[in-house]
Amino acid sequence: MVHFVGAGPGAPDLITLRGAELLKTADVVIYAGSLVNPALLELCRADCEIRNSAEMTLEQVLSAMEAAEQAGKTTVRLHTGDPCLYGAIREQMDALDALGIPYDDTPGVSSFCGAAAAARAEYTLPEVSQSVVITRMAGRTPVPEGESIAAWARHGASMVVFLSAGMLEGLQAELLKGAYTPATPAALVYKATWPEEKVVRCTVGTLAESGREHGISRTALVLVGNFLEPDYERSKLYDPTFTTLFREASQ
Ligand code: SAH
Repeated sequence: MVHFVGAGPGAPDLITLRGAELLKTADVVIYAGSLVNPALLELCRADCEIRNSAEMTLEQVLSAMEAAEQAGKTTVRLHTGDPCLYGAIREQMDALDALGIPYDDTPGVSSFCGAAAAARAEYTLPEVSQSVVITRMAGRTPVPEGESIAAWARHGASMVVFLSAGMLEGLQAELLKGAYTPATPAALVYKATWPEEKVVRCTVGTLAESGREHGISRTALVLVGNFLEPDYERSKLYDPTFTTLFREASQ
């Protein structure tokens, strides 16, 4: 059996209880060494075989899983954040299906949630934005046409840009092709929930400059949108004049 597990954004106590339990009992752990906090590996049994997938190809990962399965062992495949975002999990699941190896998936706290917590922010504010765009700049992995940053920027919604901290000049230029202006608030969140976490507040116009100034070029998310501003309408859900399924309006 293979268990895909979301490790969370960094702080070792942000893995789920289920994920921690699976790590504690695993015979083999294959972890994404580029971003998973190694402190999590302290949960593993002393005799657990631990492999770092940053140094492995998909084929090597699969053959390690296959060897474990043949030996009747349990494998945990530990991904950063939640495996469903930029996790390359689908290709592993499809290959396991073809090999007849059973698997399941335990979600984790994605870094976009860790970044909001670090910035003390809410992406969905009434009258400001009710949508969050999760995307990335095209890099060595291309982005399908119609999903360019400039295309999303037209909506002016809250945006979280992954995997792009090394391309802030280009990102800034793309963002300005849409509804954002140089004054639209933005933030660079470096290593959210890690001890070295940094939140740099800036604007779309000063994004690249802020990255340079603070030496942030990787392991960071770029947050963009007016949700980072102080102005918004309070929620209807907790408004005394608003009746909900669970509460009558009192005024
Ligand atoms: N599955 C992961 C994302 C993997 S892609 C998740 O759900 O978070 C790797 C990218 O995620 C990094 O380049 C960076 O943009 C972002 N990232 C991962 N962990 C981060 C953290 N703790 N703080 C800020 N960004 C992070």
